[in-house]
Amino acid sequence: MAFEISLSGKTAVITGSNSGIGLGIAQELAKAGADIVLNSFTDNKEDHDLAKKMANDTGVSVRYIQADMSNGDQCRRLIEEAGRCDILVNNAGIQHVAAIPEFPVEKWDAIIAIIMSSAFHTTAVALPMMRSAGWGRVINIASAHGLTASPFKAAYIAAKHGVVGLTKTTALETAKEPITANAICPGYVLTPIVEKQIPDTMKEYDMTREEVIENVMLTRQPSKEFATVEQMGGTATFLCSDAAAQITGTTISVDGGWTAL
Ligand code: NAD
Repeated sequence: MAFEISLSGKTAVITGSNSGIGLGIAQELAKAGADIVLNSFTDNKEDHDLAKKMANDTGVSVRYIQADMSNGDQCRRLIEEAGRCDILVNNAGIQHVAAIPEFPVEKWDAIIAIIMSSAFHTTAVALPMMRSAGWGRVINIASAHGLTASPFKAAYIAAKHGVVGLTKTTALETAKEPITANAICPGYVLTPIVEKQIPDTMKEYDMTREEVIENVMLTRQPSKEFATVEQMGGTATFLCSDAAAQITGTTISVDGGWTAL
């Protein structure tokens, strides 16, 4: 039996998808034929233009829905407004780098809410839709930091480990249905969230930009290459294929060997 990937007739909602990995995943799912709902907390002309351009480039329907993933009600509203959610990609995320005693409480709360609690809220509304449609895929974007730790990223690491736990529970609650739940665990991908970490890390370790990239970021990535947003999109698309129908409750590392160390 040949496995095909046609997502025509499916709707994918990708949180935090006006840049970086979320946008890369949206683009690949659109190329595979899925209708797309893009999201972020902003409501700029550029956000809606992005949706129009993706629709023009790929021929699928693309909408942009503003919703702040730090707010549980807005997470739920995003899925309700989408009206249909066959593929849910929980991707929105932020980062803050500080030692635990100095870690700002509001940053802790925001990171836990945007990365971890949002996935709970969107999944809660999306699962009944997937059940009605008779098919579903939950794809949570965790991190190598959902499986391992580093200093100074307490909230992010706690949240990403939480996302991996939520993924496993989602898989068990849907195990007997044609719905799967998995987490993709990227290593370093050069996107805006990573760019923003470079100055803080330079300060923390007293290093140049090049030293941070080589000796901090890619030091744990044996391939010594950043992973790409297209690779994240390809992995998400694979998880939507029939070949992946029995892959559920697991983590897929796309990290150049980081977690093999
Ligand atoms: P990014 O900064 O480009 O993207 C983050 C996205 O989340 C943006 O679209 C942003 O608008 C959105 N977002 C932030 N706060 C939001 C909120 N309150 N409500 C709605 N949307 C919000 O970064 P990225 O690297 O593309 O990160 C995407 C995901 O991948 C994150 O969960 C991140 O933790 C994860 N990740 C990234 C890397 C990496 O190296 N880039 C590695 C592992 C995991």
